[in-house]
Amino acid sequence: MQNSSIEIRILELRGWIDYHNYRYYALDDPEISDAEYDEMFRELQRLEEERPDLIAPESPTQRVGSTPVGELKKIARSLPMLSLSNAMDEAEIREFDARIKRFLMLDSDVNIEYVCEPKFDGLAVELIYEQGIFTLGATRGDGIVGEDVTHTIRTIHSLPLRLHSESPVTGKPNPIPERLEVRGEAIMLIADFQALNRRQSAKDERIFANPRNAAAGSLRQLDPKTTVDRPLTLFCYHIGAATGLTFKSHLELADQLQAWGFLTPDPRDSASGIESVIRLHQKLERMRDQLPFEIDGTVIKVNDIGLQRRLSQTSRNPRWAVAAKFPPRQMTTVIENITVQVGRTGVLTPVAELKPVEVGGATVRRATLHNQDEIDKKDVRVGDRVIVQRAGDVIPEIVKVIESKRLVDSQPYRLPRLCPVCESPVVQDQDQAARRCSNVSCPAVIANSIKHFIHRHAMDIDGMGDKIVYQLLDAGLIQSAADLYQITFESLIKLDRFAEKSAKNLLAAIHKSKKTTLWRLIHALGLPSVGETTSRLLADHFRTLPAVRAATTEELAEIDGIGPIVAKSIAQFFTVDANALLIDKLLAVGIDCEGSGQNRPRNVGKFSGMTFVLTGALSGMSRKESKSRVQAMGGKVTSSVSRKTTVVIAGEKPGSKLKKAKNLGIDVWNENRFMEEIKN
Ligand SMILES: [Zn+2]
Repeated sequence: MQNSSIEIRILELRGWIDYHNYRYYALDDPEISDAEYDEMFRELQRLEEERPDLIAPESPTQRVGSTPVGELKKIARSLPMLSLSNAMDEAEIREFDARIKRFLMLDSDVNIEYVCEPKFDGLAVELIYEQGIFTLGATRGDGIVGEDVTHTIRTIHSLPLRLHSESPVTGKPNPIPERLEVRGEAIMLIADFQALNRRQSAKDERIFANPRNAAAGSLRQLDPKTTVDRPLTLFCYHIGAATGLTFKSHLELADQLQAWGFLTPDPRDSASGIESVIRLHQKLERMRDQLPFEIDGTVIKVNDIGLQRRLSQTSRNPRWAVAAKFPPRQMTTVIENITVQVGRTGVLTPVAELKPVEVGGATVRRATLHNQDEIDKKDVRVGDRVIVQRAGDVIPEIVKVIESKRLVDSQPYRLPRLCPVCESPVVQDQDQAARRCSNVSCPAVIANSIKHFIHRHAMDIDGMGDKIVYQLLDAGLIQSAADLYQITFESLIKLDRFAEKSAKNLLAAIHKSKKTTLWRLIHALGLPSVGETTSRLLADHFRTLPAVRAATTEELAEIDGIGPIVAKSIAQFFTVDANALLIDKLLAVGIDCEGSGQNRPRNVGKFSGMTFVLTGALSGMSRKESKSRVQAMGGKVTSSVSRKTTVVIAGEKPGSKLKKAKNLGIDVWNENRFMEEIKN
């Protein structure tokens, strides 16, 4: 064959293989036999061997072509990859719809058009295409920083390595944007999962608990060949950026994804009005067990992209979509014992030790009983037969006791009066269900605070597990988290199981954790009811540790996502001497959470550096929407007028704030002026 005709034949074969690949994997409707497909594939391989200069990464022969990587590279995003908020029942689905209408100031009887798609139980990923060629695949990670999994994602047959130039379904030509960001989810089909576990079991290797774990393991492999043996499927449902392209609706966007060769969520339905949406949600739940993959709910999205833009997002979730979860799966089992754990705040938590039972694809051995009030309410006793349930990743719960099966000699359960760890008296705070150990230096409290401090989702001290924490505590090397930074090589090397190398590694990991981000430090401090999400909210809002420490209950309660009770407890935390001392010690040893650049960038825009106060009602926009518009353009919104205020936006019936603004000589915008400013 002539050189030029080889080149043409190669392109031709790649085109045909991509097309038939799509018919097979995406449409499940092949037009040719496996033998014919293999023949084409082998011809392409042969020609590429002859002309290695023509091998391109987007060639179907190159799916497994990448060499193993040493570690997964971290990928930092400029815009976060958000996750969806959840609706746990029908009332919360209706509230989602009502919230949207309040935000957009629509009448409650207006019917919004929604699209419903299955909520996959897999791993969210982002794909980048440049000039139509797949160049990067990354996991969601924590939303801001993900991991580069390009080498394993490439092996997934439902991923187009190159965007189809024409739709494999309709034959219409496709636009090819210069840069395209696609969001989707990598999952393992139930059949692939079962086959994988059979192979693992035959080899006497690890059995995966559920398809989601198996998918995560497969995607995060360093060697793509391993991923091939643990086949994944990719569904794509959203477009981040697409140079030069705009869409009117989500349905149009989904059609375009399909035309490019992506597998899109199926079934996909649209409906007008929330009651019809709820019926679709119920229908999907009935279909749940017939689908070839695990789903845990329905994703409900506003179809109109213009409305999506107006609704925009909070700092955590888009406002225009929600994940409506299916009711949890339930099973019955027996409580073999009730044990008590003492947490990092000293709170005693009773835990039911269960006879192991399979619930929704996972083995459940323990369930939290929360506190004495919960135990009393459900009258849970040792030996009882109970119904347990599990919803997604949530900790399993006891729903109720089956009283007809109760043993005759069973006794009501009482929490111990003495701490099971240090035997100090247990106390109960006023108005609170929780009982806690009265000893502020209870070993369980100290150990659990330090375990929390070093955790992957807090200061992330690599290689330091719970065992080492207990060892350091027992040896008297640490009494609080701050002491970690004072440990010396000489003292560490004397301990059992520490050699020169492991001691050096641990000290290096501890040292490395000094350079951290504000949310990690806040989370590590272990404020009651402040998890990762709230820590991020605080970091995003206040930007510096002194600002968080100085925040009043009112200022805290104003943050979208923080309620008055949590606000109060946060403010209180910083007034406690022991906590202030710990923070000062940490700062003194050189913890630096300001300059690492991983704090989320504030929106930059026309209003950057400006502080706004809203008063009165605008006719075309709700208070929340106007606030979100100001924030999206980089402005800050506060509730009271002071000398720091830049602009007061005054609508109908403004209050005393307008008067105060005028007294202080602050700029006042009416609705028209505000609309003008945000239009440009
Ligand atoms: Zn104690």
